[in-house]
Amino acid sequence: MTTAIVVGAGVFGLSIAREFALRGWSVRVIDERGPGQTGPSAAESRVLRFAHGTDEWYTASALRALDGWRELAAETGREFFVDCGVLLIEPENAAGTWELDSRAVLERLGIPVERLTSREIASRFPAFALNGVGFAVYEPTAGVLRARDAVLALAASAIAAGAELIRGTAVPDRDRVVVDGVPGTADLIVWAPGPRLPALFPGMTSARRVRQDSFYVAAPAAAEPGPAWLDTGRGMYGVPALSSAGTKVVPDVELEPDAPGRGDADVRGYLDARFPGLRDAPVLRREPCFYTAMPDGHFLLGPHPRMTRTWLVGGDCGHGFKHGPAWGHYVCDVVEGRSAPPARFALR
Ligand SMILES: Cc1cc2nc3c(=O)[nH]c(=O)nc-3n(C[C@H](O)[C@H](O)[C@H](O)COP(=O)(O)OP(=O)(O)OC[C@H]3O[C@@H](n4cnc5c(N)ncnc54)[C@H](O)[C@@H]3O)c2cc1C
Repeated sequence: MTTAIVVGAGVFGLSIAREFALRGWSVRVIDERGPGQTGPSAAESRVLRFAHGTDEWYTASALRALDGWRELAAETGREFFVDCGVLLIEPENAAGTWELDSRAVLERLGIPVERLTSREIASRFPAFALNGVGFAVYEPTAGVLRARDAVLALAASAIAAGAELIRGTAVPDRDRVVVDGVPGTADLIVWAPGPRLPALFPGMTSARRVRQDSFYVAAPAAAEPGPAWLDTGRGMYGVPALSSAGTKVVPDVELEPDAPGRGDADVRGYLDARFPGLRDAPVLRREPCFYTAMPDGHFLLGPHPRMTRTWLVGGDCGHGFKHGPAWGHYVCDVVEGRSAPPARFALR
């Protein structure tokens, strides 16, 4: 049996480990804290949209991933996908290029998509105030993943397929993984340590650890939540309340890890204009979260240039979660030599 070590039990590492285990590999997964405990994959929610501008690859990947998430839900008996739809509000006084580009790709790939006027939005989604101007592209079959629950389901499935989860802090040492001082090796070693990648492999890529803050605003969870939304013109996106944590509003900015970030007042101003029903709702908490940014916005997947058994995976660029099962499948295909490693994901 071929053996693998995967470092990182976030959505990337677990999706890869599960896929290897399903393909008959003997897999050990190393994580410092355990699945769903820390990092960007342990958040309450992540948007699953198909829209990706003109890029068909990520759109098709998100579509395959949704099938994968549904299979995982059926296999584990856990419900973690909320099919609430996603609304892409087009910037006012602009052609809405990213939104309309996305719509064209969705149509080409046969993914349900509609373009709504502000009047249609007011009648279908009355929580949103577009004040009579503008349009939105609506993805009715997109939605939100309960991220932490989804990661725990991935872990349960990987274990059921034979993967072993080990708690410990790993560092690379040539083609070995040293876990809490104890070296180990396997036929293949995959490092998927999320935003720690640049620190563990300095100078190897232009990946940077960056921060984005989510704000949770008091709002009761509805039996049928309205859509998640992206508001590119105002630089915000959000997720309807799925629990007592409240509605999530996120200024879509990439911050240095220690930068001050936006304050509650910015978020309040946005909500006052866009969601009149939340006008007096208090901001309950701010949640800083880290991810890995690449200058070109693409994932990373490639063999280490000097360690012959070692591959690096990451560069999620703040939009990786949704792709989990599809990315796991794809990475395994590349590593097993079934697909050529794509140039745009190469270590760079
Ligand atoms: C605010 C915010 C909003 C986002 N919104 C979305 C969204 O709406 N939709 C979407 O698709 N994506 C979204 N993302 C991105 C998404 O969360 C990430 O792409 C994804 O979670 C990255 O997963 P990962 O497995 O690469 O990393 P991680 O989740 O960080 O997992 C890495 C794991 O490796 C472990 N680890 C690290 N170093 C070591 C070590 N040395 N030894 C042992 N273990 C180690 C960590 O403990 C961790 O469990 C968002 C990110 C942020 C920050």
